[in-house]
Amino acid sequence: MAKTLDIIPVSEWGFFTLPRPMAIAGPCSAETEEQVMRTARELSDLGLHVFRAGIWKPRTHPGCFEGVGTKGLRWLKRVKVETGMKVCTEVASEKHVYECLKYGIDMVWVGARTSANPFLMQEIADALRDTDIPVLVKNPVNPDLDLWIGALERLNEAGIRKLGVIHRGFSTTENILYRNAPGWQIAIELRTRYPQLPFFADPSHMGGDRKYLREIAQRAMDLGLEGLMVESHCAPDTALSDARQQLTPQAFADLMRNLRIRDADTDDKEYKEGIDQLRAQIDIIDENLLYTLGSRMGVSRKMGEYKRDHNIAILQASRWDQVLAAMQEKARKYGLSEAFVTGVFNAIHEESVRVQNEILSGAEEG
Ligand code: PEP
Ligand code: MN
Repeated sequence: MAKTLDIIPVSEWGFFTLPRPMAIAGPCSAETEEQVMRTARELSDLGLHVFRAGIWKPRTHPGCFEGVGTKGLRWLKRVKVETGMKVCTEVASEKHVYECLKYGIDMVWVGARTSANPFLMQEIADALRDTDIPVLVKNPVNPDLDLWIGALERLNEAGIRKLGVIHRGFSTTENILYRNAPGWQIAIELRTRYPQLPFFADPSHMGGDRKYLREIAQRAMDLGLEGLMVESHCAPDTALSDARQQLTPQAFADLMRNLRIRDADTDDKEYKEGIDQLRAQIDIIDENLLYTLGSRMGVSRKMGEYKRDHNIAILQASRWDQVLAAMQEKARKYGLSEAFVTGVFNAIHEESVRVQNEILSGAEEG
């Protein structure tokens, strides 16, 4: 049973320029002092207020660049002093938290591999106890809303009230365009349950390639999320981690400038904003429906081949009657009319039979 979260509104953190989007940008990893300072200065000159850089990097293989470690915290401190930006980095252990507190890091985030691990979340929450530092929690790598909520509860129970979330999508074995599956419906569910939680999207890790950043960032805005965390590097192609998905500071500024943000000042605009959010939800659901229909047709084709190989007739009317009756029964539970469900499933079935017949007539011809 989910508990309520006791949150200090983001407008009182003194971090972000409002209205949205609130922006966090900076390199995937701090690599050298020069790279950090150059990226930070360029971003600051373009109007950024909150700078990110990974110091300890969770990498799949040992031997990959695993971050510069504690010495990078000194560079972040320099960014803070010389540009006036707030600085943040990822923590994955108690040791990371203590180091960040020692170096005056303004905010920390918990990465997707860490938020999936309740032991580490508890360790981090305990290390942060009685501090005033804001914490952003990325969604766990696996699409488990309760795990995400559990991570937030642990921090909140440790007294962290400046809490927010970052949606970066989920690991998947499906062959999709993006690096991570968006799973927006999980973000929408979290948003609905905790509307007071400041909500960021991370289009860089979701997309995995800079060419997708714009569409993902726009979708996040259309869904009404408040913020974006974007990876930006002074020379992205030479980056030691996540090179393909990083933007130059100028490209980051262009991305932000070109977002369509509707403010909700007047009644009419409020309506537009609401309808855009709903449309964005519908678009996602429709995409999912198409995907599901495609998968169903794939299985149907396999069934056709299987029946052909075993010399079985395509149409087994009694089975379809049973399937349809079960769907009609379930329809009521989902608030759908029986007539609607009958129409949709008959159309799907018809197409399925047509496809299976094609397979069979192919066999006859061949
Ligand atoms: C990051 O922000 O650099 C990072 C490692 O992200 P994630 O935890 O989303 O993979
Ligand atoms: Mn990264």
